[in-house]
Amino acid sequence: MSSTDFLIIGAGFSGLVIAERLASAGWKCVVADRRPHLGGNAHDRIDPAGVLIHPYGPHYFRTNSPRIVDYLSRFTTWHEVSYQIKSHTQGRYWSFPINLNTFEEFTGKPSTSEQFAAWLEKKRIPIEAPANSEEVIISQVGSELYELFFESYTRKQWKRHPRELDASVCGRVPIRTNRDNRYLTETFQALPAKGYTALFENLLAATPGINLHLGMDFTEAKSRFNYKHLIFTGAIDEYFGRRFGPLPYRSLRFEHESFNSDQLRHRESISGKPGFWQPAMQVNYPDADIPFTRIVEIKHATGQNIAASTILREFPKDWTPDDEPYYPIPAPDAHAAYQKYSQLAAAEKTTSFIGRLATYRYYNMDQVTAMALTEAEKLITRYT
Ligand SMILES: Cc1cc2nc3c(=O)[nH]c(=O)nc-3n(C[C@H](O)[C@H](O)[C@H](O)COP(=O)(O)OP(=O)(O)OC[C@H]3O[C@@H](n4cnc5c(N)ncnc54)[C@H](O)[C@@H]3O)c2cc1C
Repeated sequence: MSSTDFLIIGAGFSGLVIAERLASAGWKCVVADRRPHLGGNAHDRIDPAGVLIHPYGPHYFRTNSPRIVDYLSRFTTWHEVSYQIKSHTQGRYWSFPINLNTFEEFTGKPSTSEQFAAWLEKKRIPIEAPANSEEVIISQVGSELYELFFESYTRKQWKRHPRELDASVCGRVPIRTNRDNRYLTETFQALPAKGYTALFENLLAATPGINLHLGMDFTEAKSRFNYKHLIFTGAIDEYFGRRFGPLPYRSLRFEHESFNSDQLRHRESISGKPGFWQPAMQVNYPDADIPFTRIVEIKHATGQNIAASTILREFPKDWTPDDEPYYPIPAPDAHAAYQKYSQLAAAEKTTSFIGRLATYRYYNMDQVTAMALTEAEKLITRYT
């Protein structure tokens, strides 16, 4: 057995950020991840066609926090992006998130913001405090646009009716009466210029004192290292042997398809841009009879200068213990099931549970980075 100060399970955003902070404060850290690569779900890599892809689904970095940008900028420069998406239903592409352009596509005639706002006012179903994802959308746009863009998409993604999901699930999608087509609203929207994996490689290169073990799971790591404090960023129910039963998760299956420049030439009338397969970085497919939810062509966002392109189709699926638990379920019953595990976690005084899986909450990358920075400060104070 070797000795370390901190054993950190998971080499994703939470595990590597906390490792960097603790090692920079002079502590010895072992980081173990059962996957053979850095970055957790944010991992990116060059595929056989030479395209930089996000194999676990697209990761659009954005934040309102200058503190997070400053911290991560120690390990990367940035490629600014205005993330653009569309929706594809009724056999055509639509501007999305819903805005004045979508409204004109819907009515087939030119309009103004005032006319669209007046239309929404007539259609919306007033609900003072929307309690779920159906209410949050129909209270803004009424049922026609809700059914066209949200209902089937959400059912496909979560295998639950929108009314069984927290309001935040659909509520995070903006609805605008101007022509702003941007998907996201955060002040900082950019990708690490050379990708997330390169960012983490730089973090490790800049930080002596981190002993990294890829392809090593928690059980093996525990048997090889003595430690004074454990940081666990995996699934909390797995940590406790699923003693209250597995928490509900939604999983995904991804299908990649690459195209060379000749093949892409035939798509130019659809993509509107040489070298691309579709007209936006992400196209949502809300129709119930299409088994995938979205197609992502990440080259739109990375700005990679390459003739080929790769698309990724995302198929939601039930989670089984053999699958990656991609999404905690954002619903009241799932939160209640998590509370039992959270109580067990609170009793473990020399283990920190951080990150998306260990806190069973859909956090974005900037949020888990903030959580890791905060926990590192607490641990440095406690052990110094
Ligand atoms: C499809 C998808 C799209 C997303 N898109 C965005 C986006 O656009 N923008 C955004 O900000 N966020 C996005 N996210 C969220 C983002 O992935 C997370 O915020 C972030 O990756 C969480 O980092 P983490 O370190 O907490 O967890 P993870 O990235 O899940 O890392 C945890 C690591 O722990 C390892 N591990 C787990 N259990 C064990 C064990 N027992 N032994 C050893 N290793 C173990 C896992 O292999 C994994 O590598 C997306 C997530 C998904 C699933």
